[in-house]
This record gives sequence, C-alpha cells and structure tokens, in this order.
Amino acid sequence: MNCTEELLQQCQMLIQRAQSVCVLTGAGVSKASGIPTFRDKDGLWNSMRPEELASMDGFLRNPELVWEWYTSRKLVLTKVNPNAAHEALVRLENSNKDFVLITQNVDGLHARAGNKRILELHGNIERSFCVECHIFYNDVFFDKIKRILPKCIACGGRVRPDVVWFGEMLPQDVLDQAINAAQRCDIFLSIGTSALVYPAAELPYYVSRSDATLIEINPERTSLSGSVDYYLQGHAEVILPRLCPDR
Ligand code: NAD
Ligand code: ZN
Repeated sequence: MNCTEELLQQCQMLIQRAQSVCVLTGAGVSKASGIPTFRDKDGLWNSMRPEELASMDGFLRNPELVWEWYTSRKLVLTKVNPNAAHEALVRLENSNKDFVLITQNVDGLHARAGNKRILELHGNIERSFCVECHIFYNDVFFDKIKRILPKCIACGGRVRPDVVWFGEMLPQDVLDQAINAAQRCDIFLSIGTSALVYPAAELPYYVSRSDATLIEINPERTSLSGSVDYYLQGHAEVILPRLCPDR
C-alpha cells in the first residue's frame, strides 16, 4: 500500500479520535534537520565502524577517537533545528491527554521542539557522566587542539557520553514506561526507524488493545511494514504535518 490521499485521511481521522497515542521515533525524523541517520546509504555507519565508536571497548581502547566523534556530532546539533516532523508531534501531544513519545534519538530535538512526555530510550548526547561516580555533566566537549580528555571534577574518573552503546542495557525504568505506553495506546505510530535495533524494535509488538491501530511512516519498507495496519510511505516531515495539521 502506498501513501495515498485516502490512507492519509483515514489515519488522520483515527488519530483525531484516539484516546491514547504512543509514538516511537528513530533517526529518520531528524534527517530533515540535517542529522544523518545510521543505516541509510549516506548514513553515519558507512564511514565509521560502530564497535570502535559506540561501545565501552572502543572507548577504553581509543577514548580520543570516541570523544572526537561525539564532539563533532554535538557541534552539528548547535547548528540545526527541529523540523516540521518534530513540530507536528508537539501539536499531537497538545491535542491528546494520554500521549507518550518514545525516541531512539539522542539529539534532544523533540524536547527542543516542545514535546514534554518524552522517553529517551538511548540516552541524550548533550549529557555525559563519570564512569566511576556517575555524576552527570552537560556541555562536555573534547578539545581537539589540546587533546585533553574530559575528566570528572569530583573524582578524576573518565567521563563518557550518556548514550546507550552496543552491548549495554537500556535504562529499565524508561523501557518499562515505554512498554506500558505501547500496551495501553489505541494508536501507535512508528516513524523513521529501521526497526532493527532491539529492544526498541519490539515495542510495536506490545500494542495489545484489540481496537488499536499501528501506523508506520518511512520512505523505505522495514521488517515492521508487513505487520502494520497502515504503512505510509514517505518522509516524516511531509506526512506528519498532514496527519497532525496546524489549526
Ligand atoms: P536507522 O539509521 O537505523 O534508520 C533510519 C530510518 O529512517 C530508515 O528506516 C530510513 O528509511 C528512515 N528515514 C530516512 N529518512 C527519513 C525521513 N525523512 N522520514 C522518515 N523516515 C526516514 O535509525 P534508527 O532506527 O533510529 O536506529 C539507529 C540507532 O542510532 C538508534 O539507536 C539511535 O539511538 C541512533 N541514532 C540517533 C540519531 C539521532 O539522535 N538523530 C542519528 C543516528 C542514529
Ligand atoms: Zn566521578
């Protein structure tokens, strides 16, 4: 099924009538803001090796390389803004009493756009923490010229970005809240995610109300596409404003 006008209207009506809305977003939602995804043809993993950059082993082996990569991603964030997809999700939250936005993105753009009920499954790149004493820090950068690694002011321990790396567990309380939101919603929207990273990819399968509707928005089909009620093929920044119009 392609994304026809008729499908869009049906989904818009279902969303308007919904009592409880749960949204899962991935890197595709931020692409129009200028942040590359990981797995597209021009994505980040094409030039980098994930296990070198996003794992504790990689960090211990080469913390300078890891910090250089995260610092460059953080600098990108200072130059970009939320796009029409983020803005539409703010309208959706404002028009629904029971709304939860689960995101795999670490860019903080949903919060910057104005969403409030956000569950960040994979952390937030703006935050860092000390691996020894777990104090949190904001605005930690690696100085490329002086090559001084960020250190904990309290204990001198290594400071790392507060993102979930390969082989690490997701924060359990956040995951529990996400599962709960999926179980009670009557509309679940999966937007801009390749549906490959677990356990996030499992969330749509927790939707358990018999009257619930599963909608996916993605320009490419994913492993989820065959299981949804509506697959809306296209870009989030184009389709979402039509589903959640500004009135
Ligand atoms: P992914 O890179 O695996 O997949 C991106 C998906 O977005 C693809 O299915 C692609 O077809 C789709 N897409 C591309 N352009 C789109 C658009 N304009 N509108 C809608 N969809 C579009 O990303 P993922 O599924 O989020 O998983 C990647 C992991 O990488 C996550 O764990 C996440 O934490 C991390 N990540 C985060 C960011 C970010 O914070 N912005 C960026 C890259 C990766
Ligand atoms: Zn410390």
